[in-house]
Amino acid sequence: MKNFIKRTLRNIPLLVLIFLLLQQCNLENDSTYQSLKDFADEIIVINTHEHQRWPEENGDHTYRLFHLIQGSYLMSDIVSAGGQRVSLNHLDSMSLEEYWRINGQALDHTRNTSYYSHFIKGFQKLYDFDDLYFTASNIQDLSAQVEVKYSDYRRWFDEAFQRAGFELMFLDQYWKPFNTDVAEQYYALVFHINPLVMQSSNRPAIGDELSGIYDRAEEDGFSISDLDEYLKYCDYLFTKNIEKRAVCVKNSMAYSRSLDFEDVPYEVARALFARPSESLSSKEAKKIQDYLFHWIIQKSIENDLPIQIHTGYLAGNGNTLDNGKPVKLNNLFLKYPGAKFVLFHGGYPWTGEYAAFGKMFPNVYLDLVWLPQISREEAVHALDEMFDGVPYNKFFWGGDCAFIEESTGSLEFGKDVVAEVLAKRIERGLLNEDVAFDMIQRIFRENAIEVFQLEERLGRVF
Ligand SMILES: [Zn+2]
Repeated sequence: MKNFIKRTLRNIPLLVLIFLLLQQCNLENDSTYQSLKDFADEIIVINTHEHQRWPEENGDHTYRLFHLIQGSYLMSDIVSAGGQRVSLNHLDSMSLEEYWRINGQALDHTRNTSYYSHFIKGFQKLYDFDDLYFTASNIQDLSAQVEVKYSDYRRWFDEAFQRAGFELMFLDQYWKPFNTDVAEQYYALVFHINPLVMQSSNRPAIGDELSGIYDRAEEDGFSISDLDEYLKYCDYLFTKNIEKRAVCVKNSMAYSRSLDFEDVPYEVARALFARPSESLSSKEAKKIQDYLFHWIIQKSIENDLPIQIHTGYLAGNGNTLDNGKPVKLNNLFLKYPGAKFVLFHGGYPWTGEYAAFGKMFPNVYLDLVWLPQISREEAVHALDEMFDGVPYNKFFWGGDCAFIEESTGSLEFGKDVVAEVLAKRIERGLLNEDVAFDMIQRIFRENAIEVFQLEERLGRVF
């Protein structure tokens, strides 16, 4: 025993030294992280994907905290935890106490998720709010702040947009895909092409009321009775979107069908389109859609428009996960080397498969959009792996949210993830700080300017 005490006492200086060295290591890593995060905070961000909408687009409501939760990703976790979606109309007349009684427990059970943490980060950044979690008592004051800011949303949006550090957001208006007018001081138009593809196999029967693309076509003076006329109208929509300075096309069809787009000959598609849509089997309907998407890729090449594609996880509380498996797109990357494909969301949970395409194909780019919100830790892990394989001029970042608070939280999360991954790589001796700064600058800004050709729009070329 005596010997043991002696030995221990003799080793104390060594133990202290080891402890100090470990401390130093952590401090260096912390300070590397901090300097990368500080650098990221100075970047004026090009945000390559958003669904921002003016509150009045959801009807006439007095916005409070729960209206924002309702329109956020967090709501899906609340439902997953056993909570309830409440309509916006119902929310208008509901007290905060009543809402907390219905969803408070489920909300508490989501305190661990990235949907929760990124959402609350937006309030920590933009509001007078520092708490780690929402509670029955702190939401009273927070909700009152929301109400004041939303009483003049245009002013509030402008202030928050600047404070968060955005310069431009790409706006995907999937809920009104034919609208080409956007507030250009904030947004660049995205040409949302789902209806062109999905409705090609859903032509109204003679005498039926027109809806969707067929209704728009008639309004624009087009009549559609065969595939050629349908394509003529699609061509018109391309021209219109390009005139309105669309920066890319967007395919989010994994929400309603599989991402495998077979190469279907024109004659086959033409003959199927000529038949009444209700007589088509689901396989036949898919063939027309597949033809249309190939046609859209060719038009995108002609017009030099990158093609953004949703891959992987599907928002909400019920869908066919397998629809969005990135590997299903492989044939398109091979067939169209002239197209620029931008794959979204890390292909989660198939992040390795997704990264492999960015590595293999010069014309496949990776947009990290939404991945940190789905799982912060998977984003850290996957991004580290992607940086082993994929050159860093091929990454973008986007927010993918409906309200400015959530986009702001999403940006904070994105910068945090990138800084953490790069700090670790510096610590492992894989990278120096200068290259890490260049990577941050490119992911949050410069790559988008280059690939989406934004120089003129941003006033860099006259
Ligand atoms: Zn989206």
